Amino acid sequence: MKKENRFRNVLRAVNHFIVFFLLIAFVITCCIMLFVSTLVETMNLTLTNETVSAAAKITFGNAILLSVLFSIFDAVRRKLTVERPVKRITQAAEKITQGDFSVRIQPPSRFGTEDKFNEIIECFNKMAEELSGVETLRTDFIANVSHEMKTPLSVMQNYGTLLQQPGLSEEERLEYAKGVTDGSRRMADMMTNILKLNRLENQQIFPKTEEFDLGEQLCECLLQYENTWEKAGIEIETDIAENVTVRADSELLALVWNNLFSNAFKFTPEGGTVSVSLTATPHHAIVKVSDTGCGMSPEVGAHIFEKFYQGDTSRAAQGNGLGLALVKRVVDIMRGEIGVESVVGQGTTFTVRIRKN
Ligand code: ADP
Repeated sequence: MKKENRFRNVLRAVNHFIVFFLLIAFVITCCIMLFVSTLVETMNLTLTNETVSAAAKITFGNAILLSVLFSIFDAVRRKLTVERPVKRITQAAEKITQGDFSVRIQPPSRFGTEDKFNEIIECFNKMAEELSGVETLRTDFIANVSHEMKTPLSVMQNYGTLLQQPGLSEEERLEYAKGVTDGSRRMADMMTNILKLNRLENQQIFPKTEEFDLGEQLCECLLQYENTWEKAGIEIETDIAENVTVRADSELLALVWNNLFSNAFKFTPEGGTVSVSLTATPHHAIVKVSDTGCGMSPEVGAHIFEKFYQGDTSRAAQGNGLGLALVKRVVDIMRGEIGVESVVGQGTTFTVRIRKN
């Protein structure tokens, strides 16, 4: 295959050379003929058969020589300014195809090389950088998923072994069985989140927009946590503007509120307060979810939207670090904005700003 390609390349080069040669020969002959005819007219020269045939031979020889020289010059120029950069680009592209995303093309010196190639090389290097970033994310993602799966699996294994012991009391049996179901629920939750995130990132989910009352949706989502706040003695404060409607995908938005509420309740100790507010500007709806929980440091805050990132490891068993990554993806899809303000030991406020239409 390679031999065939090389042969085809040689043929193409010869073809190019001949065409270029003929073109140059034609141009030079025309120039010389024009020059001779002007000379004859202006100087009143008389041309005999002998002088014409001698001059024709010399002219023909000159035309051939100049054409060969031009063609060689052009071939060398092409080799240096076109073929060399093209070869470097194709070699690098081949490496990328083989999975080596570390490849970068050294930009050739500006002198002599066509500027377009420098543009292509810059684009290529940018693409390679993006691809290697994606590859790192992919390998990190696999490592994280495997790590996250190992914990509930080993917990389930332990409880499974305990369940096999003879003579367990009813209480012990229930406790161990609960351990197994909790572990499997955690794995199932993680898988659901991974699938959702994957579908959102691959844009397999197309937002189904409809107009709905945002305040109503916030109240519905919040009410799902009634048992949680009652059990933990958490106070709820709401300040929800009436008749704020948005045109958006309600299912996707519910995902945002559910994640923010569940975090607020998870990170707020007994007796704390969780507040939800909704305000509107002519074009945007602004939702704030605040809590008086443990808060987070600026270092933690800088990473919370990354996949699998968990700042508070003491509560790691209650999540998988995917919630806020999902939230951010949904808000991005809706061309909205999300921000966080937090003070360690005092609490956290998430602010989501989405377009009404
Ligand atoms: P998970 O809650 O499963 O750990 P998330 O993606 O929802 O994952 O959150 C990532 C991290 O952000 C949490 O581990 C926690 O450190 C921090 N975080 C999120 N919400 C809050 C909050 N309301 N108060 C304090 N920290 C929070």
